[in-house]
Amino acid sequence: MNYRHAFHAGNFADVIKHIILTRIICYLQKKDKAFRVLDTHAGIGLYDLTSSEAQRSPEWKQGIQALMNAKRSTELNALIKPYLDVINELNASGTLKLYPGSPLLARKLMRSQDRLTATELHPKDAVTLKSHFEGDIQVKAIELDGWQALVAHMPPKEKRGLVLVDPPFEKPDEYTRLASGLFRAHKRFSTGTYALWYPIKDLAQIQTFVDQLYNTGIKKVLRIEFNTHQPTNPPSLHGTGMIVVNPPFTLEEEMNLILAELEPILAPEGKGGFNISWIYNED
Ligand code: SAM
Repeated sequence: MNYRHAFHAGNFADVIKHIILTRIICYLQKKDKAFRVLDTHAGIGLYDLTSSEAQRSPEWKQGIQALMNAKRSTELNALIKPYLDVINELNASGTLKLYPGSPLLARKLMRSQDRLTATELHPKDAVTLKSHFEGDIQVKAIELDGWQALVAHMPPKEKRGLVLVDPPFEKPDEYTRLASGLFRAHKRFSTGTYALWYPIKDLAQIQTFVDQLYNTGIKKVLRIEFNTHQPTNPPSLHGTGMIVVNPPFTLEEEMNLILAELEPILAPEGKGGFNISWIYNED
């Protein structure tokens, strides 16, 4: 386990992933009934953008900093307000220094009836993660294998909620693990919303992953991809993807609006693009 998210926190992929997370949670808030968020690969929860890791190649400058400094439309501002509110609250002095990881962002968006389970396998990172939620009865932060949690913690007792699976992609089999993990979790909790993150690098590998998702037979599967530049040969990371199973019915339209406006901000060289499509869309 060599991956350290501190090197990448707040980059373009985090911004898009966390905006999607926010839009899903905002939709869950429309009903009073409690929901649970399960964050299987939670990371440390809070990132210092002035740390030596974040400064080494400051990816956050082309991500969250670019977004915060950009001129934005009223429509975009309305949709990303809950996300930016959390960032502004963490940086009350007005200087961007702290960036929330997915579990802290989810926690900030929860109401008193909602719950979060966050699992992280790296022992030191799990200690840091737990430190942000000490004494918080709405949160369980656990040192645990997220792939195990993905099945063992399903279904949540609230029977409503979001499962975020955001593995580090250090191993070549992680696309297959994502598809098979989803299949097994969905068997236990078929009405939940699932958000699965993946890197866009090798297009052939992604096509295999998409075929695997199609073959699960799961019927509501939305694919959201954003590229900062065109594919290269040999393949290198050029975009970020999110699979959303059982998305809120509003998400497709919202993300079309959001990504159209984020494109010139997060891919300023004019070589980016985005695509939102259904792998399967049937009731
Ligand atoms: N979800 C986080 C966020 O958005 O702020 C970032 C997560 S980062 C991409 C992936 C994390 O997964 C790393 O902190 C890594 O230590 C952790 N990890 C790696 N393998 C794991 C496993 N099998 N179970 C749980 N966590 C794991």
